[in-house]
Amino acid sequence: MRRYADYDRLDAVVISHMHADHFLDLIPLRYAVRYGSKRRENRLPVWMPPGGMQMLRSMTSVFTGEGNGDFLDEAFDLREFDPAKALPIGDGRLRFAPTTHFITSFAIRYERNGSSLTYSADTAPDARVVALARETNLFLCEATLLPGELEHGGVRGHSSSKEAGQMAADAGVERLVLTHYSQDASSDDLTAGARAIYKGDVTVADDHHILEI
Ligand SMILES: [Zn+2]
Ligand SMILES: [Zn+2]
Repeated sequence: MRRYADYDRLDAVVISHMHADHFLDLIPLRYAVRYGSKRRENRLPVWMPPGGMQMLRSMTSVFTGEGNGDFLDEAFDLREFDPAKALPIGDGRLRFAPTTHFITSFAIRYERNGSSLTYSADTAPDARVVALARETNLFLCEATLLPGELEHGGVRGHSSSKEAGQMAADAGVERLVLTHYSQDASSDDLTAGARAIYKGDVTVADDHHILEI
């Protein structure tokens, strides 16, 4: 039987954009790396989008009384990625594409040994994300909007499950996993929305799901 703990190993963390729901988990993660289940010999590499380090450091500057005073640096090897360049991570590499969102945000493709995972980050339907996800094995795509939901002021920054299905179909991905969805959405509705367009395998991400590629 597969146990979650068997897969609970982090080689690196990559942050797509600096909205709080995408990086505040670094703060509890710092405790797990320093004292808990993710304790390790070396500091954990954490890759931030351009400008992200300064924002994170200004937030955590209030914690300077903890540890030896390097609240982040004693647990993390913090760096910023250059979205225009491929980034080697272990045996694999990352590539990035800008998304359509309310702040600068990057979709991320990870490739290793001929397998690939592409994460949409937060985005409205975007041809650059589709191009990055082209024929990827697993497309982890956001599906924030409920069917028929309009974004505030008509400015686009998120997708519905149907739009996630459209991006998956356009990119010819092998498998679609929906994430970043509303509490008000049922997994049946999310799956049905994506399947209206995309005819491949669709699943809905949840806590402790293990996805193999
Ligand atoms: Zn966001
Ligand atoms: Zn978000």
